[in-house]
Amino acid sequence: MTSIAFFGLGNMGGPMAANLIKAGHQVCVFDLFPEAVDKLVALGATTATTPELVVKNADVVISMLPAGKHVFDLYLGDNGLVKALKPNTLVIDSSTIDSATAIKTAQGLKSHKIHFIDAPVSGGVAGASAGTLSFMVGGAESNFASAKPLLDVMGKNIFHAGEVGAGQVAKACNNMLLSILMVGTSEALQLGIDNGLDPKVLSEIMSNSSGSNWTLDVYNPCPGVSEGVPSSNNYQGGFMTDLMAKDLGLAMDTAVQSHSSTPLGGLTRSLYALHQKSGNGKKDFSSIFEQFSQKN
Ligand code: NAD
Repeated sequence: MTSIAFFGLGNMGGPMAANLIKAGHQVCVFDLFPEAVDKLVALGATTATTPELVVKNADVVISMLPAGKHVFDLYLGDNGLVKALKPNTLVIDSSTIDSATAIKTAQGLKSHKIHFIDAPVSGGVAGASAGTLSFMVGGAESNFASAKPLLDVMGKNIFHAGEVGAGQVAKACNNMLLSILMVGTSEALQLGIDNGLDPKVLSEIMSNSSGSNWTLDVYNPCPGVSEGVPSSNNYQGGFMTDLMAKDLGLAMDTAVQSHSSTPLGGLTRSLYALHQKSGNGKKDFSSIFEQFSQKN
């Protein structure tokens, strides 16, 4: 049993913390929303009045927060936890943030003998609830090994991508590719429809040909082609356009820093920004199909 402090009990962090409790760990939780805390306390978590008290007995701290500034502030801001953590505490940040902030946070904590890994996830709310997330970890081998038993409770595929920051880079690459595939699949399906093809027939042809890819085969963006996917439920549930737009921004920041050429990533980021601005931020990211299917 490990003594864990868990910060950020939203759509993802709530079920992740619940799985740790179910596995028998001692979990002390904190969120800015008291209702989110209450839900976890009902499942067996403890809590405390201040973040400092939440980490008092913690050997491991896990955070699942909206963005890089929240993560840096939690640990190293004016009232940062760095002053309250015991030496040798392991910090696992699973938020999706830029790798530069992950590295800066790791360095700030290291000078206080606190270990840090970045461990962003893929798999969405369904994966968080089922304990089947994929974790992409950046950090020292020894810290990865210490974190692995806990990550195994919350996930199914646990990858060690490299040094601190590498998990965030892997996540940015994956989601950039995913969005490019989603846009390409949408574009191809609509081209077929505009030329008289049935999208179900076209999907079957392409799925069994060289155009086969996850967004076509498993997560088809055209309503009515597949059952049980967001496109057949008015694009509700799944992975929000707002979150994909955020991840594409992180991918572009990463590309700028490494002087990488990402023309398709850049174009896809613009398409998702446009889609967001048209009021589709809360819809699943496969709703980008509507940008192609809309009739003027
Ligand atoms: P969310 O907005 O539902 O939850 C974030 C929670 O963090 C909120 O409850 C908020 O009150 C809390 N919080 C903010 N600052 C805090 C602080 N200082 N101390 C304690 N709690 C604090 O977001 P989410 O959907 O759970 O996503 C969390 C992270 O996971 C994000 O970085 C997101 O990009 C990433 N992610 C989300 C999904 C998804 O499908 N939702 C999938 C993969 C990755």
